[in-house]
Amino acid sequence: MNRNIKTDSIILRSRRIGELHKGLSCLTRSNGIIDAIAYGAGKGKSKLSGLVDPFSLLHLYLYFDPVKDSYKISDIEQKMIFPNIRLKLGKFYIASFWAELILKSFSGGGESGRVYPLLAQSLSILNKAEKGDQNLILIQFIWRYLGISGFQADIENCSECGKSFIDTETVLFDERDNEIVCSNCRTKMDMLQFTTGSLKYLRYTSTLALDKSMKIGLDNKSVDTLKHILFVMVQGIVEYPLNTLKKGLMYHN
Ligand SMILES: [Zn+2]
Repeated sequence: MNRNIKTDSIILRSRRIGELHKGLSCLTRSNGIIDAIAYGAGKGKSKLSGLVDPFSLLHLYLYFDPVKDSYKISDIEQKMIFPNIRLKLGKFYIASFWAELILKSFSGGGESGRVYPLLAQSLSILNKAEKGDQNLILIQFIWRYLGISGFQADIENCSECGKSFIDTETVLFDERDNEIVCSNCRTKMDMLQFTTGSLKYLRYTSTLALDKSMKIGLDNKSVDTLKHILFVMVQGIVEYPLNTLKKGLMYHN
């Protein structure tokens, strides 16, 4: 085993260990999620202390200590910081939600090579986004993350009868089976209904590069509908309720 790892990384969570140290959960480009200890980072004077806040893009130098059976951070190079995410509460909630979703659902393996750039680019867009665009990057992140995780529902055809949604007026989300169905295949009265714009938007933007997708607008009603449906979808792929969704803060910004 290689004891020294150098990798691009985004800190998803940082917690204090005693007075002096910090424990970090990092999404790395090459090694999935790694838990590591930044010794001395709890002290103001340490070189590491200002660098271990969540959501910055970093280059990490990690050393695996076989005696303690844990990774230690030996050095950090800061690559990009996103000051607006720390300053603006609405942006901070979104980034915290992304971090929690990844921590609770990431299954490792080859996925990190795709999740890392998605998160890095989404944070960069979120940092710069006008208030109205924050929801769009939120929606894009969730939909693409579901795609990488293999949980993206079919948005072309009804999952039950195969009918194309292009000539269907009513399109519904079946929460129980994480499927999208037509009105003929409705199983309950209170199913969430897609607006025409929301489904078209997903279909059109999902093949675009992330930054290009941000140029496509969406009406407010469709934004709200998509957020609600996508929150239900992601809640379905994690075992426990997501804390960042529990408080309802994400629904109203
Ligand atoms: Zn159907």
